[in-house]
Amino acid sequence: MASSYSSPLAEELAPGLLERFDRYVRIESTAGRHRRQSPSTPGQLEMGRLLVSELKDIGLDDAFLDDNGYVVATLPGNVEGAPVVGLIAHVDTSPDAPGAGVEPIVHRDYDGGVIELPRGGTVLDPATVGALASKAGHDIITSSGDTLLGADDKAGVAEIMTAIAHLAAHPELPRPTFRICFTPDEEIGEGATLFDVERFGAYGAYTLDGSEAGELQEETFTAAEVTLTIHGVDIHPGFAKDILVNATRLAARIVAALPSDRLTPETTDGREGYIHPYEIGGDAQRSTVVAIVRDFDDDLLQQHIDLIRTTAEEIVGAEPRAKLEVDVHHQYPNMKAHLAPYPEVVTAAERAISAEGLEAKRTVIRGGTDGSRLSAMGLPTPNIFTGGHEFHSVREWASLHDMASAAAVIVHLAEAWTADDLKAAAAGGGAAAA
Ligand SMILES: [Zn+2]
Repeated sequence: MASSYSSPLAEELAPGLLERFDRYVRIESTAGRHRRQSPSTPGQLEMGRLLVSELKDIGLDDAFLDDNGYVVATLPGNVEGAPVVGLIAHVDTSPDAPGAGVEPIVHRDYDGGVIELPRGGTVLDPATVGALASKAGHDIITSSGDTLLGADDKAGVAEIMTAIAHLAAHPELPRPTFRICFTPDEEIGEGATLFDVERFGAYGAYTLDGSEAGELQEETFTAAEVTLTIHGVDIHPGFAKDILVNATRLAARIVAALPSDRLTPETTDGREGYIHPYEIGGDAQRSTVVAIVRDFDDDLLQQHIDLIRTTAEEIVGAEPRAKLEVDVHHQYPNMKAHLAPYPEVVTAAERAISAEGLEAKRTVIRGGTDGSRLSAMGLPTPNIFTGGHEFHSVREWASLHDMASAAAVIVHLAEAWTADDLKAAAAGGGAAAA
């Protein structure tokens, strides 16, 4: 019988990978938007405790869960002169869709047709769900329709765990020392916040947090959040004549004045940036508008921020009794400039993906990963595919075949980093230092 696995190794890894994935997605670990401690929710600690115990079972005796919810462990290498290489995935899931009571369904040997899920009226139609049409013959994993699946990023967690277990059981395979870290709160942009790069001690690392098979991402958005606070003058509307200055009305006018036929998430693609006002609220006295701003180019990002500022200043400035505050919060940088001095980190991943018989697809991330900030913090960290799709929604799905390819890529990554040229590049401290 023909197998649509990318390799015999992927096929061998698939059953154990599915078992782990099924176990992890059933644990509710939704991140909480307004975090007061790390991690933001206790379910992430439950994930962490389970992973520590499984890592110890695999033989990684130093595995531990720190107070902030980060799991760290080491798989010692067996090749002299190879650098320490990091593998990273996040244990939290997005707060954008329900994450409690996930009951995954495996659709074996997918026939390429419409998948109707039992709950919530959720339907996956290959005509509208991009990559699904190309997965006929794969085992497709979905939720039951009323929750997200949690492939983002429990697919990444399960792939790292499966590959590390395979490498630990096969000491004859050449490998560098791997440092593993499972992070909390990536979905609320805090995954790198309490990441101890020095303690981690890796030369370079990879997040397993991408999507389509073969993807290798070394470029993310540069991201900022702009909060406008508008202060008006409130009074009982019955006595308001010539006195009331309605802050909510001013806020609405600002949002309406921003471009809507360009520079929005729904009108842009590829390398284009956008302004996305996503929250508006308050009352007549005081109102706020929160917008995220994204671009791959830092100068363009600044132009978008300036556009919001001048638009708001013009509208609020026309009413002398109203006051405006503009607060700009830089969220994460484009990782590309921070990766550039370490081309061997991307090269190793490219070789590993090729070794699995896949074509490495260099794509840009219209978003950020833990790697965006980690790269800026001195740990060059590109992103590798996981096989999951339609993240942050009840339609989220994953191909077990592609997940198995990702796990196999990690196994190949071990060998790639023991090649003489990459060892030498790392020993020289990257191309910049060479
Ligand atoms: Zn993710």
